[in-house]
Amino acid sequence: SADDSSVHPALPAPAGVNVNVPHSARIYDYWLGGKDNFAVDRAVGEAMIQAIPGMRYMAGENRKFVHRAARDLVEKEGIRQFLDVGTGIPTRPNLHEVAQRIAPETRVVYVDNDPIVLVHARALMLSSPEGRSEYISADIRDPRSILTDKVLRETLDLTRPVGLTLIAILMLLADEDDPWATVAELRDAMPSGSCLAITHPTADFNPDEVNQAVAAATGAGMTLVARTQEAVARFFGDWELLEPGLVPVSAWRPDTPATDPKAAYYWAGMARKS
Ligand code: SAH
Repeated sequence: SADDSSVHPALPAPAGVNVNVPHSARIYDYWLGGKDNFAVDRAVGEAMIQAIPGMRYMAGENRKFVHRAARDLVEKEGIRQFLDVGTGIPTRPNLHEVAQRIAPETRVVYVDNDPIVLVHARALMLSSPEGRSEYISADIRDPRSILTDKVLRETLDLTRPVGLTLIAILMLLADEDDPWATVAELRDAMPSGSCLAITHPTADFNPDEVNQAVAAATGAGMTLVARTQEAVARFFGDWELLEPGLVPVSAWRPDTPATDPKAAYYWAGMARKS
């Protein structure tokens, strides 16, 4: 279409990809310096950068959490199988690459509902020979469809601990969708020893900037909800929060301590089912 000003201007958008409506996966890709975004995504992405000058830094800090969480789930918690919902457009290293570098037998099931992520599913599925990496196109708002999916059932053994990762996805669900019930259904399907890792944007550190960014996104027709620490904590249910608790993402087991841990406006935490 005329509005398609992606880096592949000669190519039509893939099936199911609407280049006139902004999508979270493509906006996040834009912030991270990726090429899988369209003019409409860049417009909203830029409007959000106007509101939050540290937006790209935030996206990078969130991505680094994915790496640290995957590493620790494998190394410290002994996790060898992951369910990652809201995977995003592939960004190396992807979660399975981090995990399989430590434990090549690790199995990962990725889930996303964006057609542009589906286009890249093959890149997500390049597993180590010892492990597995699979992709399911599904919506987290229908957790049953994920839990009963044939690919999930063939890839993951739900009698053994699972690393459930819901990283920068829950803010895309409205309170009316009751994301707490959705996450509870996923948690309940996991056996003892399973872990849940979450990041979630918040207005707690800088209400002015974040509320302005949320307004830019919702004004463009997206659902985006910043949540308080208390609201994010409830996603973990009765699972035990592991140290250092629910903290600013840059303060969660940082490789090098951040100068200002609250400069990235996300809560981050990991919990274990007893
Ligand atoms: N978890 C990755 C990517 C976050 S971007 C990371 O933190 O680096 C958020 C992703 O969630 C996008 O790819 C978007 O398509 C996906 N998503 C949004 N709503 C979803 C839904 N209802 N079901 C499944 N995935 C969803």
